[in-house]
Amino acid sequence: MFDLTGKCALVTGGSRGIGRAIALALAQHGADVVINYARNAEAADRAVEDLRALGVRAEAVRGDVAVPEEAVGAVEAAIRALGRLDILVNNAGMTHDDLVLRLGQDDWDTVLNTNLRGTFFCTKAALRGMIRQRWGRIINVTSVAGLIGNAGQANYSAAKAGIIGFAKAVAKEVAGRNITVNAIAPGFVETEMTAALTEQQREAILRQIPMARTGVPADVAPAAVFLASEEAAYVTAHVLTVDGGLVSY
Ligand code: NAP
Repeated sequence: MFDLTGKCALVTGGSRGIGRAIALALAQHGADVVINYARNAEAADRAVEDLRALGVRAEAVRGDVAVPEEAVGAVEAAIRALGRLDILVNNAGMTHDDLVLRLGQDDWDTVLNTNLRGTFFCTKAALRGMIRQRWGRIINVTSVAGLIGNAGQANYSAAKAGIIGFAKAVAKEVAGRNITVNAIAPGFVETEMTAALTEQQREAILRQIPMARTGVPADVAPAAVFLASEEAAYVTAHVLTVDGGLVSY
């Protein structure tokens, strides 16, 4: 079950945190993986070493997904490195938190451009080949903030909600070509992104999580393996929360 042998994947922001865990999990299930990163080449090199140690082909590609040419360039470099692209994980993301009255245009644009515009350009660049080969998996990492909003994260919540609308629309456009488009919405996951929170903020978040613990990247990765698999062929336009029960309807 969930055999990804022979599949070729690109994980944006795959050098650290959730993206790194997803890249490793895809490789553990047999996929060749290109990871993209923006700034920290050392972390990317370490991730590539860990991926190769699993016996798959692996490369790192630098590129800021907020810049359209670099987003497209990352996808094209992945296709050149692996020969094809079957699985795209749009994971690269960042936050710049403040109350909406204090958010400036730069705070808005940077967060929207990285999370949402990056997802658009990478998806568009990956889709052409997927449509031709009539098989593809696009997995977008959104957030519970995109489902229920988060005070102090109006820009991030808007970007992550936008990713969900985008994924559902694209899913409808390409469903007939054997391409699924889904989203994973993690809750609070221990990574460098969340490391800056105060103990007080952390305790407030913990009180909202029925499982009474924060998540780790390895909690999220299996969801991506499932959505990338042949077995998930009939799952599309779906948002899979991985949040210890934080969001429940
Ligand atoms: P992280 O630990 O900060 O890692 C971010 C990764 O994205 C790094 O590999 C980073 O590479 C890369 N990246 C950042 N900006 C980029 C850009 N403009 N272009 C290309 N790559 C870029 O973050 P994380 O917590 O793992 O988050 C991963 C995803 O999960 C994000 O989309 C985030 O919004 C989402 N998420 C996280 C949580 C959480 O609690 N942690 C919850 C819900 C959703 P460099 O080091 O080279 O910059």
